[in-house]
Amino acid sequence: MIRETFPVGVLRCNCTILGDEAAGEAIVVDPGENIPDILLRLTAQKLALKQIIVTHAHIDHVGGALALKRATGAPILLNQNDLPLLAMMGEQAGWIGAATPEVAPPDASAEDGLRIGPGSLAGEVLHTPGHTEGSISLYFAPQRLLIAGDTLFAGSIGRTDLPGGDSRKILRSIHHRLLTLPEEVAVIPGHGPMTSIGQERESNPFLRQAPR
Ligand SMILES: [Zn+2]
Repeated sequence: MIRETFPVGVLRCNCTILGDEAAGEAIVVDPGENIPDILLRLTAQKLALKQIIVTHAHIDHVGGALALKRATGAPILLNQNDLPLLAMMGEQAGWIGAATPEVAPPDASAEDGLRIGPGSLAGEVLHTPGHTEGSISLYFAPQRLLIAGDTLFAGSIGRTDLPGGDSRKILRSIHHRLLTLPEEVAVIPGHGPMTSIGQERESNPFLRQAPR
């Protein structure tokens, strides 16, 4: 497996390229910005982009998805519960003082249980609402890898004070869907450094109490 994770945009969203080198196929998760850089990385690794997966419809994660689709022809997957947020892109741009990126509805909804690539890599969508209603995480069981979006961070959890946020739901999602994964699973959060399920189960101060 080829994996490249790098921050994009002013909010430094973690964008991840996952590639199956045998198949020459890749997925890109959360192309918030810096699309020319993402295209260069795909070319350098000789990977054809098959899917663009967006963990939730916040501007820093979804902002470049349509430009990347236009450059590659790859379909965009986003959970349909985040369509109202996608429709608020002008307002979201105002929150961070950025220009409003052009966005479009996804080609398919990233529903719980959906199998995803790249190539023969067997990834699965976990619907983990709370940061937003349509927030998803991506779990690659054989690779022991989780891409958590803005649901779980190293030592923290996603904010729930923006439209669609729900503090009870995010705790339920983390406790019931993420902390139940094997402790050695590596976690790529939506921002900041990597961590692991075991590390967060042990020491994340926001997860000391089980959710109601
Ligand atoms: Zn977010």
